[in-house]
Amino acid sequence: MLPIVVPKGSWETWTEEQCIEALYQARWPHGFRCPACNYPHCSVSRTRKHPLYVCSSCRLQTSITAGTVMHGTRTPLRLWFRAMLWIGEEATSVELSEVLGVTYKTAWLIGHKLRDALTLVAEESKLSGSVAVTGGVYGWRCFSSLVTEPTDQPIVIGAELDGEEIQFVKMVQMDLSVVGKSRLLTRYVYDVFSEFHAEVDFKRVKTFAYRGMKSFKPLSAILMKAMHWFDHTLQGLGPKHLQAYLNQQAFVYNINRSGQGLLWYLMRLCGSTMTITYRQLTRPRARVPNRYWAA
Ligand SMILES: [Zn+2]
Repeated sequence: MLPIVVPKGSWETWTEEQCIEALYQARWPHGFRCPACNYPHCSVSRTRKHPLYVCSSCRLQTSITAGTVMHGTRTPLRLWFRAMLWIGEEATSVELSEVLGVTYKTAWLIGHKLRDALTLVAEESKLSGSVAVTGGVYGWRCFSSLVTEPTDQPIVIGAELDGEEIQFVKMVQMDLSVVGKSRLLTRYVYDVFSEFHAEVDFKRVKTFAYRGMKSFKPLSAILMKAMHWFDHTLQGLGPKHLQAYLNQQAFVYNINRSGQGLLWYLMRLCGSTMTITYRQLTRPRARVPNRYWAA
């Protein structure tokens, strides 16, 4: 795969032109392809803020952001790229709005759009090989309480292992219909997790019951770190967006282990993922958005 020329230096020095070029490469690493007819040639119209690519076959006009996470945005791409770096910083939307110089609502929406793209990756990835699973229960600002609250959210964390070393993790907010009123994580809950989030030929080598005497500390530590971030930085999370933040934590752990650049990866992902809208994010029941993958 061709490398993207990520703008060099501090983000304050990135120009919008450099960011457009980087997004172009992320979107079309093998050259332009018309989203409608897949034709490989176009002319470029530069009369607007962002260039328009006009298909030489069907004349469809495609903007650089059309069909991506940045679809229809009025926020400059250089701010979007800065927000992608923020995904790895465990910061809040308030801090992002201050860094970008945008309103809280804009920063909140950008954060959720980026997390939505990560959710797509999380949904498609399954654990394989030697797998360890454990879990915990996250409650509204009282995750370590021994008293089960109606708002407690059971979470299972699974990891691919190489020996004792964790290679890749996945964290899932378990459906309450699976866990039952007790909110306790039983072997049945781990079996349901494995059925949906591990390959059929996976080999589960370790299972650690919640509140058990034994614990696989490296795996529990990842979950505890996530819960600590939810409580102490984000001031607590409700059940609606919990999975999205779990996906963010798992992504940051996995990308740091993989050695791939976070910005490089997110540019490519966001360049090939259809965005979710503000209405879809805030409606009472989350709806799975239509997805779009560029050629
Ligand atoms: Zn076309």
